[in-house]
Amino acid sequence: MPLTPPSTTPRARLTRIIATVGPASESPTEIERLITAGVEVFRLNFSHGTHEFHRATYDTIRSVAAKLGNPIVILQDISGPKIRIGEFAGGETKVAVGSPFRLIEGLKFGNSESVGFTDTGWFEDVKSGHRVVLGDGNIVFVINEKSGGEIACTVTAGGVIRSKWGLNFPDSALTLGAITDKDRDDIRFGLELGVDLMALSFVQSAADMLEAKKLMEGASTIPFLIAKIERGQAVDNIDAILDESDGLMVARGDLGIDLPMEKIPTVQKMLIALCRKRGKAVITATQMLESMTTSPRPTRAEVTDVANAVYDGTDAVMLSGETAVGSDPRLVVETMANILMEAESHLLLPTPDRIEDSVEEAVVDATAVLVRDLEAKAVLVPYTGGSTAARISRQRLGVPVIAGARTEAAARRMKLYSGVYTLISPSQSSWLVNIGAALDFAKRRGWVKDGDIVVATGGFPLGKVGATNFVRAIKVGEEL
Ligand code: PGA
Ligand code: MN
Repeated sequence: MPLTPPSTTPRARLTRIIATVGPASESPTEIERLITAGVEVFRLNFSHGTHEFHRATYDTIRSVAAKLGNPIVILQDISGPKIRIGEFAGGETKVAVGSPFRLIEGLKFGNSESVGFTDTGWFEDVKSGHRVVLGDGNIVFVINEKSGGEIACTVTAGGVIRSKWGLNFPDSALTLGAITDKDRDDIRFGLELGVDLMALSFVQSAADMLEAKKLMEGASTIPFLIAKIERGQAVDNIDAILDESDGLMVARGDLGIDLPMEKIPTVQKMLIALCRKRGKAVITATQMLESMTTSPRPTRAEVTDVANAVYDGTDAVMLSGETAVGSDPRLVVETMANILMEAESHLLLPTPDRIEDSVEEAVVDATAVLVRDLEAKAVLVPYTGGSTAARISRQRLGVPVIAGARTEAAARRMKLYSGVYTLISPSQSSWLVNIGAALDFAKRRGWVKDGDIVVATGGFPLGKVGATNFVRAIKVGEEL
């Protein structure tokens, strides 16, 4: 891999940056700074915050995005059935290896021997001999005995436990569904707001996705549905889950508790490759620049992790606490953008096999051939609802895909795909007007100049949904 000399031509960043909004980033000023630094997608994390907070953040993002004329994507992250322990009188306690510990239903305040829990439908499925993993995976109990409302365990990995920490049961096949009553309420709220992407936590099977789809029926705009893969069971059921999803998130935080941590790199590669094979969007998430929550410089390992997600072929990388509660969200986003730009300048992913034998896929292959042969600087998709843009993005041609969208909602959603930049197509009747607008978009940003080649593709006649049936090479500056 030769090192490329610094280039003076502006280059489009292809990998998308998702930033979680929280107390450190909710103000209009901070939202604007983050968009300017490169955020394409804001994540509203419904594990925290009230509907009022999320509504205010939603409105802030939409109004700042409108002011900047930049279609910014909003992702609603539905919290799902995260299981948590109750509280400790002093906020925390310490447990030592070998000592007994009891989980007691409804206990108000815990101590060093026991803590409370609420049965949200999992108690039945955990059995003696199964492990109970707490927090980030550092604390482990093994269940000795279960009796009405109580679980007696032995501590096998000890340390400090804090109030409300998450509980995981890696050995238990949980039958509780992925959508709680709170989630149902949050989904209704998200649809009312008009979120672009909806991510479902702790998905186990395709049934969870189907249930969410059912709840979305009848909404005026249906968001893209993203499955958060954070349970071993979800990895086992991945093909069926993807059948019912627009994309997935490699949710390495909880996945690294439910599965042995050392499996995460392989599972990440497998999930990203599968999404690319099937034409689904994929987000790599959690602890990507974790140390920057408090430090101005990331670790070298974090920098390498972000770059490796690009080399794996991810569409997007996600920031969590780094931008929600971190000391300098903008610096984190700038750092992320720099790492992505550098990684992308060395990126060469193999051409994917066709998803199916169809006119659409053949035209996409022809587009890819033209881009490579002619060293085209951009692909223009001048009037799309998203499907052509997604098909081109999947090729990972190393150049931006300038998509003229038919609607504002489409303009936002498709920005989740690697390399896709969007504008609203100005004309409902003229290809040439729309091609001209997409070309201007790329020229204004310095990505193409007169004399360069760009390749235009899409579906004829204008507005034919799902069609990709023409391709044209254009020399910039010549009459369209
Ligand atoms: P969370 O999901 O941040 O909502 O927990 C991501 C993960 O578990 O990695
Ligand atoms: Mn999670």
